[in-house]
Amino acid sequence: MSYPKFRYAVPKTVRDAVEILHAATEKGEKAIVLAGGTDLMVQLREKSLVPDLVVDISRVTSLTKIERMGNEIRIGPLVTHSMLASSDLIREYVGVLSEAARTVGSPQIRNLGTLGGNIVNASPAADTIPALVILDAQLILTGPKGDRTLPITDFFEGPYETVIEADELLTGVIVPLPPPSGRAIFLKLARRKALAIARMNLACMLYYNRQKEVFEWVRLCVGSSTPRPVRMTEAEKILEGQPFTDVVLQKAGQAAAEQMVALSGLRSSTAYKKPVVGDLVIRAVKLAVEKG
Ligand SMILES: Cc1cc2nc3c(=O)[nH]c(=O)nc-3n(C[C@H](O)[C@H](O)[C@H](O)COP(=O)(O)OP(=O)(O)OC[C@H]3O[C@@H](n4cnc5c(N)ncnc54)[C@H](O)[C@@H]3O)c2cc1C
Repeated sequence: MSYPKFRYAVPKTVRDAVEILHAATEKGEKAIVLAGGTDLMVQLREKSLVPDLVVDISRVTSLTKIERMGNEIRIGPLVTHSMLASSDLIREYVGVLSEAARTVGSPQIRNLGTLGGNIVNASPAADTIPALVILDAQLILTGPKGDRTLPITDFFEGPYETVIEADELLTGVIVPLPPPSGRAIFLKLARRKALAIARMNLACMLYYNRQKEVFEWVRLCVGSSTPRPVRMTEAEKILEGQPFTDVVLQKAGQAAAEQMVALSGLRSSTAYKKPVVGDLVIRAVKLAVEKG
């Protein structure tokens, strides 16, 4: 087993990291950021990625914080899945992200793998992404010209493709506090129990008004099913303003399945995924309503 030869830099600040990335990019070199390395080391070992320079940001301590600032929670990209799963702040206000992080890989992967790496790697199966989509998260990217902030749904261009520039770092994830009335759930279907990469996953948050007996609002995102992570808006529209009945749930499941096919086209996996998306949506909505 061998790794390609590359230079290695270990900056301690965002500014230094961006300067190093920018200088390399200007010279036409391929520079790549390393956080926990759980995705990257595999790519280096397989030589599917052959960089000139690896910029290890794991010592940039300013990127490891979880903070509440007014009506939002700011999460540093170096926050690991273990930190997300055990943070009281995350559990209390955005529990669905904690639930998603808890399902990632094994304890070793959760201890090393970071939220930023999960987002920037942009795997369709990434577990934190559907949770961040229904939470309306925003991402902060920092480059040589400063910061830019964009909604998470604008970050992805396709599987493993994002809008991040070669000399930019993901430096923050902003999660607005969801309405306290919301009830959320994260579901994951995988081939094996341990170390499982999601075959499909789903995040759902909703408010079911028990007095009026209608869904006031619903947010749904199914991972590994569409080229870019998106909200299942057709299913959301069917549920909103309607009562919690089997007929309404069936229609919502069907709408989600049809939206998936419309966005992905017919593929070899469609025969499996189409009914499963529908069932996942129905299951998630039921479980979220049962949360009270
Ligand atoms: C055995 C195994 C099981 C796994 N199971 C799961 C699972 O169940 N669910 C799941 O979602 N994932 C899983 N993964 C994938 C992986 O662990 C996660 O995606 C993890 O969050 C990646 O984070 P990292 O810090 O290790 O990223 P790295 O490997 O360090 O980086 C990943 C990518 O992101 C870029 N990057 C990282 N941080 C930044 C930043 N701040 N700014 C700019 N670019 C950045 C890197 O350049 C690289 O392209 C698994 C991986 C393995 C090996």
